[in-house]
Amino acid sequence: MSNSASLSSIEPSLELSVKLVAEAHLPTEVGDFRILGIRSKVDNQEFVVLVKGELKTNEPTLVRIHSQCLTGDVFHSIKCDCGRQLQAAMKKVATAGLGVIIYHPQEGRGIGIINKIRAYALQDQGADTVEANLRLGFDVDERQYDQCSDIIKLLGITHVKLMSNNPDKLSALQQAGITAERVPLEIELTTTSPALDYLKTKKEKMGHLLSEV
Ligand SMILES: [Zn+2]
Repeated sequence: MSNSASLSSIEPSLELSVKLVAEAHLPTEVGDFRILGIRSKVDNQEFVVLVKGELKTNEPTLVRIHSQCLTGDVFHSIKCDCGRQLQAAMKKVATAGLGVIIYHPQEGRGIGIINKIRAYALQDQGADTVEANLRLGFDVDERQYDQCSDIIKLLGITHVKLMSNNPDKLSALQQAGITAERVPLEIELTTTSPALDYLKTKKEKMGHLLSEV
């Protein structure tokens, strides 16, 4: 499949929890992509996926599973590194000429935007990102990756180079039977960056693999 070719010829397996429902060309600041609209068959989630190049089975392929972060991705908040991770991942894929960005609609590690703002309010009073989610009655991380694994299978990719610092994402793909290795995706931060404490908490309390903090 090239960027101009259609993905409509994909034969969706009945066993997969997702289906392709729309696709188009998407030119961006970092290059041209295909944009796919994928719907869950088991709940009401909708996924947007960017694809670059001709995807092939067994070809090691850069993949980013990017968890939605409205504040970082859209408003360019510097409280976290999400927006810059998304941009960096898109650039890596564009440079490689091959890869996939899965936009995972689980805002605020799965608690939703309103609860994320509530968590930010607790952080304004001194809680860290983990304490805030726990105080609101949620798990530290409510995200599920089953449907992301199924999207990768739907696209016919069997060997993933996962751009992530999160070992949970890597093991979720491996448990789904996908060959996956990790490609670090670290954003340079200044010592005064507001995201520094957030990333330190992710490293110390959630096991994220970060060398820069
Ligand atoms: Zn974020």
